[in-house]
Amino acid sequence: MGFPDFFKQQLTIARVYGIPVRIDYRWFAVVGLSIWLIESNLQSHAIQVGNVRLPPHAQLTAWLLGVITTVGLFLSVFGHELSHALMARAEGIEIEEIVLHPFGGLARLKTEPQNPRAEFRIAVAGPAASFLFALLAFVGAKIAALGNYEATVVVFFLIFAGNVLLALFNLFPGYPLDGGRVLRAILWRRSGDIVDATRKAGICGVLIGGMLILFGVYILIAPNWRPTQPYFMGAWSILVGLFLLDTAARVVKSSHEVGLATVADAMSPPVAIEPGLTVTRLVDDFLPLHRQTTFPVAVKGRLHGILSLEDLKSLPRERWTTTRVQAVMRPVQPSFFVEPSTTLDSAQQLMKANGVGSIAIVNAQGQLIGFLQSGRIRRRPKARSSAK
Ligand SMILES: [Zn+2]
Repeated sequence: MGFPDFFKQQLTIARVYGIPVRIDYRWFAVVGLSIWLIESNLQSHAIQVGNVRLPPHAQLTAWLLGVITTVGLFLSVFGHELSHALMARAEGIEIEEIVLHPFGGLARLKTEPQNPRAEFRIAVAGPAASFLFALLAFVGAKIAALGNYEATVVVFFLIFAGNVLLALFNLFPGYPLDGGRVLRAILWRRSGDIVDATRKAGICGVLIGGMLILFGVYILIAPNWRPTQPYFMGAWSILVGLFLLDTAARVVKSSHEVGLATVADAMSPPVAIEPGLTVTRLVDDFLPLHRQTTFPVAVKGRLHGILSLEDLKSLPRERWTTTRVQAVMRPVQPSFFVEPSTTLDSAQQLMKANGVGSIAIVNAQGQLIGFLQSGRIRRRPKARSSAK
């Protein structure tokens, strides 16, 4: 293990509602940095919050307040991610883990949301939690101000400001930020095309990452604008911008690949057989032309079931002339069909589990429009939306 790998190694620090919470070693550096930044500011400047004025603190108090505030801020980040995770669970999605990384956190889901509504709810849950924490911290600061607990006012105020920033920053409409997921959900709902929606929201993420980098460079070199800690703020903005740019660029790139491809990109036109067809006719007329091991069974475009040649093996040959497809097919059930906008990934999961190794594609009007067999998936290049 090399030096950089050591810092990327993950530790499980807790399990909350059965969800493992992981950090890597870089996270400790960020915690240290946060404590130091708060501590050095409290020591060197008088702080004015509303009508409460704090004189510069003694070293020990400043350190203590730095630690308490940092713990509060990281619990806020964790609460934000937990809120995403619990909403995902409410939408029936299993949660892999919550990772706290140097630029915030990530609730990693085992599967992608199946529809725009679920995506929207999961995305909004995080910023909603942050706004709630901000409100609580604000009320806390007000109460502490009434009792003249000046140091407590400052801690609550910093936690309030941190949560407002976290919520607002995450609402920027660039994937993979929460606002970008909201944008993706809206585009997805409108067009029904998750791949296209992901690519557009990802491009917005790339643009926002680029803007953060430019903003950071501007802070570093601007002659007449000096916020407190200009070098730190500038460097931080550049780092976060690079992180976002890199992640979003990868999302845009992979939106062309299998994970986000839909069944509509890969399905073949269905070779459907009628339930009244005899097994003899199937074997004599259909099999020589269509070398498939499973067939959708349909009447006038309505799916009745799926016939698997495996199921014919137990049927004695002398009964082929009298047995009809409907007697040997597997009657339709929910795992036998999907909508055209379903991702190829989840269709493949269904095919593995449904016992026939294939799946029918049925449109919103209930018409059979395509068929997929596992092991025979070949993606066609996707028509670009600009060419439509
Ligand atoms: Zn979030």
